[in-house]
Amino acid sequence: MTQVDLTIKNGSIVTPTSLVPAGIAVKAGRIVAIASNANLPDSSRAIDAAGLFVFPGIIDVHVHLRDPGYTYKEDFKSGTLAAAAGGITCVFDMPNNHPPVRDVTALKDKIDVAEAKAVIDYGLYGLLTDGNLRDVKALARAGVIGYKCFMGETLGKVGPPSDGEMLDEFAEVAALDLRVSVHAENDPILQYRVDKLRKQGRGDAYAHFESRPQIVEEEAVNRAILYARETNCKLHVAHLSSVQGVDVVRKAKQGRQPITAETEPHYLLLDGKDYAKIGRLMKVNPSVKTEIDRASLWNAINDGTIDMIASDHAPQTLEEKTKPMIFDCMSGFPGLETSVPLMLTQVRRGLVSLSKYVQLTSENPAIAWGIYPQKGCIAVGSDADFTIIDLKMRGKIEPAKFLSKAKWSPFENFEFEGAPVYTIVRGNVVMDHGFVDSEVKGKMIRPLADSQNTGTS
Ligand SMILES: [Zn+2]
Repeated sequence: MTQVDLTIKNGSIVTPTSLVPAGIAVKAGRIVAIASNANLPDSSRAIDAAGLFVFPGIIDVHVHLRDPGYTYKEDFKSGTLAAAAGGITCVFDMPNNHPPVRDVTALKDKIDVAEAKAVIDYGLYGLLTDGNLRDVKALARAGVIGYKCFMGETLGKVGPPSDGEMLDEFAEVAALDLRVSVHAENDPILQYRVDKLRKQGRGDAYAHFESRPQIVEEEAVNRAILYARETNCKLHVAHLSSVQGVDVVRKAKQGRQPITAETEPHYLLLDGKDYAKIGRLMKVNPSVKTEIDRASLWNAINDGTIDMIASDHAPQTLEEKTKPMIFDCMSGFPGLETSVPLMLTQVRRGLVSLSKYVQLTSENPAIAWGIYPQKGCIAVGSDADFTIIDLKMRGKIEPAKFLSKAKWSPFENFEFEGAPVYTIVRGNVVMDHGFVDSEVKGKMIRPLADSQNTGTS
């Protein structure tokens, strides 16, 4: 073989079933060979991955890069640099920026922004909201990776569609053979409870927990599953947080419905007890719940009910986050630079295997959203996206060093063991031991026409 652009030698390739000691050769952004070191071609650059683990690029299917509209919180440059620093090679950006991505004009605005600024690859969600049924098909033609439907109110005041329109929109998405991600929380129940707690003068962080009992999630997940079944629409349940939510998803999967689900490190690592310690910085929707809910999410990961781990990176300014009354504080926190090290620490603790973690962060997301095998695996012909991991690297979470504009975290000072040391996107080294290359150009990823984008189970 003639000279290639990049080789990665001496590492262990992590696949969804095993560890394979092998080298990789990359040319023009794609994997061209997987072979023993001796059989690799010459290359312009060689990475020695001795003692390291080579993952297919980690895909984060749930981020809010806030651009355009809220660039004081984050933008496509700072957000994708943060992702690269955190070992993530591809993000799917949520549509609740401003203007929200509810039609093709807004999508095109966002594509222009992302093309100019992104340093890693990205997919863009279209919005399903009140009054945009007629835009659903055009958004697909313009290249959305899938859709997001906020069943509870969120930033940007993109309210839930009426039940009637939601059903029609699901049918439209089914006809396009795409997938809908739902933020499944019952809006009237939580608004009512927030109101009641406000009137009682409750301003503490725990009041947020009380405003969103498990049934808020259970009811909405149930309704989304019912509408998806009725319309044959492929469904993705974002950020599962409760036992009840998990049970409803598990049942639907047993009934062979094409449904996938996601959770985040904060639901796996924090619970009700932490509100007293961490306070308002851990306000997030859905709320972090009890120890029992947390345990059920771990079970759901290991029995396949939960298919993916994402960050739900949702940067806010510290000022927006620390108002005197909890219900005046914004929800969400940055997660792109903490997600992978926090989860690798759980790998070290034996809570999840390396192979399972690859499924959760690469293979399953790529299959569910229709971009496999372009992404989501290490195979000849696939995009040369890699996250190279050092499982021995120790440290603690230091938000002051984040590349995200939000330099704070509920995980401040959490100790980690295991971290990404290289982030490689289509053969470009975007991060090398913490140093990022802001000149790399990210690319928009669209669903493949012939991908196996059915439900994973
Ligand atoms: Zn979100």
